[in-house]
Amino acid sequence: MFGIFIGLNQERKIMTTLQLAKRNIKEKGFLDIETPKSVDFVKEIKKLRKKKNAIILAHYYQEDAIQDIADFVGDSLALAQKAATTDADIIVFAGVHFMAETAKILNPKKKVLLPDLKAGCSLADSCPPADFEAFKKENPNHIVVSYVNTSAEIKALTDIVCTSSNAEKIINSIPKDRPIIFAPDRNLGAWLIKKTGRDMLLWDGACMVHEAFSIDKILKLYAENPGSEIIAHPESEAHLLKVAKYVGSTSGLLNYVKTSKAKTFIVATEVGILHKMRQDSPDKILIPAPVEDDSCNCSECFYMKMNTMKKLYLCLKHELPHVEVDPELSKKALVSIERMLELSK
Ligand code: SF4
Repeated sequence: MFGIFIGLNQERKIMTTLQLAKRNIKEKGFLDIETPKSVDFVKEIKKLRKKKNAIILAHYYQEDAIQDIADFVGDSLALAQKAATTDADIIVFAGVHFMAETAKILNPKKKVLLPDLKAGCSLADSCPPADFEAFKKENPNHIVVSYVNTSAEIKALTDIVCTSSNAEKIINSIPKDRPIIFAPDRNLGAWLIKKTGRDMLLWDGACMVHEAFSIDKILKLYAENPGSEIIAHPESEAHLLKVAKYVGSTSGLLNYVKTSKAKTFIVATEVGILHKMRQDSPDKILIPAPVEDDSCNCSECFYMKMNTMKKLYLCLKHELPHVEVDPELSKKALVSIERMLELSK
């Protein structure tokens, strides 16, 4: 009898904690609940995924354990393509908010979970919709190409979405006589102007991770490692792209390391990519590019790393937090995303 009483009390306590966590989810961004030390997150996530017919999509910048348990790991383009074709009932997006939002726009009837709603993106934040709408009105004849790292509001103001994997192809698909606005990344935009020869109007946004690298320290490392190659993501600053042997998207960088004859690479992008690079190319020496400020982990995306195995487990278990997009906004944003998917086939 006493045992039953303790059991009921315990259950009531768990219920109250869950109710409280649900109430605070907007403020916290995730379900803030303690889990017993004995919980094996890997085992439980696998069980829940199967039971709920869920798919876990993870970006290359996620922590290693999340990449290892995901059903699919990819860059923004591959993840959007996967989200567009999955027959799972629930999509768990281990990435940042704009990625989960894109998955929701592509799957309005499905539940799209994000382990931490506050996992944002400095680049997406650098393009506020009201300011961008005004900029667009000042340039009414321009075709708007926006990087996928934008909010649904910006996608709704966009003609064609792109990622770093397909940006060049998409710019080249636009008739030469049509002027172009490119948003929001000024570095990727400047790189595309160089690659395509198109004179585009650039929005002045940037990613804080890709602008944190120190060119002086990178060149010093390069000199200390004869035969090494500097490789960089096009969101990095122009002076770094100028000295890079290869510039490409996340998947482009992975492929380059696999196929290059060089042995050592100085990798200028978010450090999470090294996990997959090491798996794909175990014989290569990979050196993360150093950043200006030695006191910070600035080559780690703070937002990407907000997702943890515990948050992933709790969001799958309780199906919270989930991402919602206003249906009218979603319909408008879908047009520019679908144009990108069509042009990427
Ligand atoms: S690395 Fe930069 S662009 Fe990518 S999610 Fe983080 S802040 Fe955004």
